[in-house]
Amino acid sequence: MQLSLADILEARKAIAGEVVRTPLLPSRFMSEQSGQPFFLKMETMQPTGAFKLRGATNAALNAPEGTHTLTCCSTGNHGRGVAYAARQLGLKSVICMSALVPQTKLEGIRALGAETRIIGKSQDDALAECRKLGRSDGVFEISPFDDPYVIAGQGTIGLEILEDLPNLGTLLVPLSGGGLAAGVALAAKSINPAIHVVGLTMDRGAAMKASIDAGHPVEVQEVASLADSLGGGIGLDNRLSFAMCRDLLDEIVLVSEEEIYRAMQALYYEDSHVAEGACVVGIAACLAGKLSGLKGPVATIITGRNVDMTQFTRIMTGQDVQLDGYLVKGARYGA
Ligand SMILES: *Cc1c(COP(=O)(O)O)cnc(C)c1O
Repeated sequence: MQLSLADILEARKAIAGEVVRTPLLPSRFMSEQSGQPFFLKMETMQPTGAFKLRGATNAALNAPEGTHTLTCCSTGNHGRGVAYAARQLGLKSVICMSALVPQTKLEGIRALGAETRIIGKSQDDALAECRKLGRSDGVFEISPFDDPYVIAGQGTIGLEILEDLPNLGTLLVPLSGGGLAAGVALAAKSINPAIHVVGLTMDRGAAMKASIDAGHPVEVQEVASLADSLGGGIGLDNRLSFAMCRDLLDEIVLVSEEEIYRAMQALYYEDSHVAEGACVVGIAACLAGKLSGLKGPVATIITGRNVDMTQFTRIMTGQDVQLDGYLVKGARYGA
């Protein structure tokens, strides 16, 4: 299965009525910091609060005849996208998650009428459960990242960025299972192969980076992170997103929890955006000086706003954050 720009254009037509065409906002602060015109693609403005609605909707629209229930495993945002798409199409949904999923994400999914199942402490446990469900008649499983319709749906973000910013030089993409990076990089490079595409993720549990380094999908231990939406593996039986990320990403840059913490503060205090840790990895790498020789203009995707408000408030007020066995030392912004 080889995806092309045509699949992304097709996805765009399919999902047009269901997802928001989000704005690309200039960031004065990040332009100053990076020395290049710097833009934020505001996927936080999707009705589910995250870009995952694009891929989930495209996959749901392509579910086989006779489907009555959609199922998936999720770190939260994909589940919300699938639950929303199911409701729009008059289908039921069962969302499988691990115990690492924040409460707010769980509540957002339940509010859409989905059934939720909490299984184990990792995405792999949740995946095993939804695979089992997916074998029943009329139940259709939608992978969070390793599905051609999901990747094409996420790729529509790339089309929109290039329409708004045709001379884009560098694209900074948050990276976990790689559905977003695969789709967006395919769109961008099909339109202009010279665009530099960087995948960014946290240094604790960076599954795609470890897999590309090893030359094949490998398992990494999943740990709690401020970027909770970037948790989880890529699947040892990965079919699409691994090869696409390996072939299309120019580099992968890792950031620390402390760098994510500071970048969340910067995005809030400088640009007034409430966004998840997962969204700020591009900003974090830039502020930490980990992206040298950036070719402008630069764009990054602010992928979701489904934050745990208690944790978010701690970060904005400079308090320490205790993650499962790891302490992120707090500091007030600008201190
Ligand atoms: C899922 C997600 C990502 C990463 O997307 P992948 O396709 O898994 O790489 C980034 N940010 C947020 C907010 C997400 O929910």
